[in-house]
Amino acid sequence: MAVPKRRTSKARKHKRRTHWKLAVPGLVSCPQCHEAKLPHRVCVHCGYYKGRAAVETE
Ligand SMILES: [Zn+2]
Repeated sequence: MAVPKRRTSKARKHKRRTHWKLAVPGLVSCPQCHEAKLPHRVCVHCGYYKGRAAVETE
């Protein structure tokens, strides 16, 4: 197994991790209830998808 010869410096480690960031999930507004929802998924607020009720809601 390959073993590192030198310890990675703080600067090198931090430079590598500059590309290490959180991505904001895509949000679209529901055409039925206008709440923010994830695209290509059933709305968690009203259960609608493609203009009809896909999930039963109380
Ligand atoms: Zn909705």
